[in-house]
Amino acid sequence: MKKVVVIGAGPAGIAAAVELLKQDKDIKVTILEGSSVIGGISQTVKYHGNRMDIGGHRFFSKSEEVMNWWSEIMPLQGKQSFDDEKLGREKPLAENGPDPNIEDNVMLIRERVSRIYYDRKFFDYPISLKPETIKNMGFFTTVRAGFSYLWSCVFKKPETNLENFYINRFGKVLYSMFFEGYTEKLWGRHPREISADWGAQRVKGLSVKAVLKDMFMKLFHIRPTKVETSLIEQFWYPKYGPGHLWERAVDTAVENGAELLMKHCVKRVILEDGKVRAVVCSTPEGEKTIEGDYFISSMPVKDLVSAMEGEEISEKVRKVAEGLPYRDFVTVGLLVNKLELVNKTKIKTLGDIVPDCWIYVQDKGVKLGRIQIFNNWSPYLVKDPENTVWIGLEYFCNEGDEFWNMSPKDTAKFAVKELRKMGVIKKGAVLDWHRERVKKAYPAYFDTYKHFDTVVEFLDRYDNLFCIGRNGQHRYNNMDHSMLTGIYAAREIAAGTNDKQKIWNVNTEKEYHEEKK
Ligand SMILES: Cc1cc2nc3c(=O)[nH]c(=O)nc-3n(C[C@H](O)[C@H](O)[C@H](O)COP(=O)(O)OP(=O)(O)OC[C@H]3O[C@@H](n4cnc5c(N)ncnc54)[C@H](O)[C@@H]3O)c2cc1C
Repeated sequence: MKKVVVIGAGPAGIAAAVELLKQDKDIKVTILEGSSVIGGISQTVKYHGNRMDIGGHRFFSKSEEVMNWWSEIMPLQGKQSFDDEKLGREKPLAENGPDPNIEDNVMLIRERVSRIYYDRKFFDYPISLKPETIKNMGFFTTVRAGFSYLWSCVFKKPETNLENFYINRFGKVLYSMFFEGYTEKLWGRHPREISADWGAQRVKGLSVKAVLKDMFMKLFHIRPTKVETSLIEQFWYPKYGPGHLWERAVDTAVENGAELLMKHCVKRVILEDGKVRAVVCSTPEGEKTIEGDYFISSMPVKDLVSAMEGEEISEKVRKVAEGLPYRDFVTVGLLVNKLELVNKTKIKTLGDIVPDCWIYVQDKGVKLGRIQIFNNWSPYLVKDPENTVWIGLEYFCNEGDEFWNMSPKDTAKFAVKELRKMGVIKKGAVLDWHRERVKKAYPAYFDTYKHFDTVVEFLDRYDNLFCIGRNGQHRYNNMDHSMLTGIYAAREIAAGTNDKQKIWNVNTEKEYHEEKK
């Protein structure tokens, strides 16, 4: 019987475990999770009756396989959610699907509304060309933006960094307004210092050209045949947040025979004869050695390489892995009785709050990066969604820096001060708060990342080791990409084959269209 050890119970590890047992019930699967929570970065925090997503996790994939996987674990809603029903908003319903007002395992269909807040005004995200945008930007700036865009169409810059990538697609003026400050907040580096790879993955086909095309299509009621990543207008979302889906998914793996060991943090990886022989975990009961025939790792590459022992690892590989950069993340949940932001859209919401799921904060004078409005993700995340607003404030920082080390109370005070400065809330609006810190939330593409191939080549020499997931591959993967790496690794192991390239190739297409075939 093959014994497979899966490191990490996030989306990648869970998908790998589920797939291994789908392929072959006789495989012995052991999942080692370092923390006491399921779901990794995609977990959902429960706090005083409200639920907080670490970020906001849209369930959308161009992979039909992933969409089916999700809906098998959590079927699509068959009845309207109570907010849609109350507000008369129609959603497509699945025949015989569960009623979200009665059942818990329900996938909701939600509207993707997200805007940029800049200089106390809202702009569409992605930027759209409509009279309101021009009014908010002012005539003079609009003309400047137009000319600078035309200039960038004629004089293309070499795409050697993220700044040039954005300027080529938006022009210098729009880049300075909407990308420069936010990117610097997110990464703690100027876009000039960041590889264009990140833009190629995240912004994908988006540009002023795509925005113009979208505008004309809407104007003439033409249905798009393919939709760019950032323009998707609906997404799926589990009634109780992403963590609830991952908890259900891990239950499925356990029901099918997987062993789940929580608080088993891999600290040492024992190499022998060109293979991984075992891992040593720290557990509440002390150190434990777990042996296996195969190892699927979603732990950060940096930690994996530094944990390896028993065989020689070149200085170069160690240095590159050690120098891999990450951006860490602090999020503050605030329960407020009222937001001062006025809903001037035509979209109806409970309590007439602004309809955004999340808002990008572009102002350079505040550290805040994004505001999540959880009421709009799922009203079931909020204990009293008609009278309170549960928001998540996102801050990007580095583990160990001043912001990271702030006490929870001081962080919440800092966040409240910024919101008041921006005019988002008034004094006395806050009813409750909660802070969460997330290490290595974003694998970053600078520093030694440019030599990452050396590490990949080294890791691939270990036939029985498969690196999967976001930090496991040091790639800006979404849940679906992370899952696919796990699924592909499981299939290689079950089939006794070893095509690692297929696993590393997930989410590498430069031109990525969310096209449904
Ligand atoms: C703010 C934010 C918003 C996001 N929004 C979206 C979105 O809208 N849609 C989307 O699809 N994706 C989104 N993502 C990405 C998504 O969160 C990740 O792709 C996904 O969680 C990665 O899954 P993973 O299993 O690879 O890693 P993780 O979620 O990081 O899970 C890894 C697991 O391994 C465990 N682990 C680590 N080291 C060890 C060790 N040494 N021993 C044992 N266990 C270990 C961790 O505790 C963790 O549970 C977002 C991410 C962020 C940060």
